[in-house]
Amino acid sequence: MEAVRLVEPGKPLEQQKIPIPPAGEEDVLVRVRATGICHSDAHYRAGRSSMGMLPITLGHEVAGEVEWVGSKVTTVKASERVCLHYNLSCGDCYYCKSGNEQFCTTVKMIGHHIDGGYAEYIAMPARNAIPLPAEISFAEGATLMCASATALHALRRGRLKNGETVAIFGVGGLGLSAIQLAKALGAVDVYAVDIKLDKLELASEYGAIPIDASRADAVEEIRSLTKGKGVDVALEMIGLPATMKQTIASLGVLGRAVIVGLSQTPLEINPYQTLIGYEAEIIGSNDHLLHELPLLIDMARKKVLDTSHVVSQKIPLDAQKINQRLDDLENYTDDVRAVIVQ
Ligand SMILES: [Zn+2]
Ligand SMILES: [Zn+2]
Repeated sequence: MEAVRLVEPGKPLEQQKIPIPPAGEEDVLVRVRATGICHSDAHYRAGRSSMGMLPITLGHEVAGEVEWVGSKVTTVKASERVCLHYNLSCGDCYYCKSGNEQFCTTVKMIGHHIDGGYAEYIAMPARNAIPLPAEISFAEGATLMCASATALHALRRGRLKNGETVAIFGVGGLGLSAIQLAKALGAVDVYAVDIKLDKLELASEYGAIPIDASRADAVEEIRSLTKGKGVDVALEMIGLPATMKQTIASLGVLGRAVIVGLSQTPLEINPYQTLIGYEAEIIGSNDHLLHELPLLIDMARKKVLDTSHVVSQKIPLDAQKINQRLDDLENYTDDVRAVIVQ
């Protein structure tokens, strides 16, 4: 089969012919129909993250049709439309058994540790295949598996309740999903903070109250719009210490700040002013859980979560075109959200 693979970090991906992967009795073989090209893939190609093997087929946002099922598989059938949860966990270790399988001691991510979806076929454990209703295109189904799923998990980590207020720092793919999901989970007012006008416009189209951080102090603005109270839940989806501080500073009494954006820079806070005085919490959020995906897909099916804006370009399974898109992501000419469609 055709596959587009990382052979040497720092070099362009290569088009290769490799055997169709073997699938075991508890696995499904999926004919890939759509694979999202994610910003992480650009990091992997550049060699900024260690890979589980080389060469490796990239791609962790995958949807397709079941081609074949193993003899012990009862949950999905051949020709069914599915999308794939990208983390393969053992199901047996302490973390898997306690429902936190993203911390599985042997977790493997497709397109990072093992072969992913920049290929015609992929073999996966059947429990990773989630039915994809006909109302959702393969391309949209693929993109649900990463940013939208991470946004849902972050809101759940923030224990968002009906009637609460939310602030979202960073209106990228994560932020746009988070705005809609927060509303669906019962948030009354959702404030969206960014410095780009086009992103803020999109945020208000989805019902958020835009806050232009290039013109005003986002924290002061949120304080004044909430009559001094601050918000109940604030999400940081950028990965900068400065916006993390703002996220925490925008909280009200018993507020929860959820940090999703990645950073390794130490974060300095005033514990009395920001935490103790408000009984506030700072919470980390990492990836998402398999059991959150059916809910997410249902929300997309009912159009509570509209992902039609996400896919801005469809390209074939072609190394040259994929490398071009990864170059765009490297150069931050973003808003190019390409999906490989076969
Ligand atoms: Zn991704
Ligand atoms: Zn495990």
